[in-house]
Amino acid sequence: MSIPEGPWTIKQLEERFPWVKWREPALVMTSAHRGLACRVCIARHGLKGSEVRGLPQSFEEFEEHWRQEHEAA
Ligand SMILES: [Zn+2]
Repeated sequence: MSIPEGPWTIKQLEERFPWVKWREPALVMTSAHRGLACRVCIARHGLKGSEVRGLPQSFEEFEEHWRQEHEAA
């Protein structure tokens, strides 16, 4: 099975990796920062350590990210 060229749609991700809760955030922690990371964005771009400080801090902020980045598309 070949992996389609990016960016992945949410439907493609859910079909290919059905055990991953794509619509729920992943808690990411470093020694200095913690935040809620978007699994879809990680699948598409990865996540650098320096980006952790910019992650949503609350579920409301994550939902805002989801609405802006993934529901409009
Ligand atoms: Zn995202």
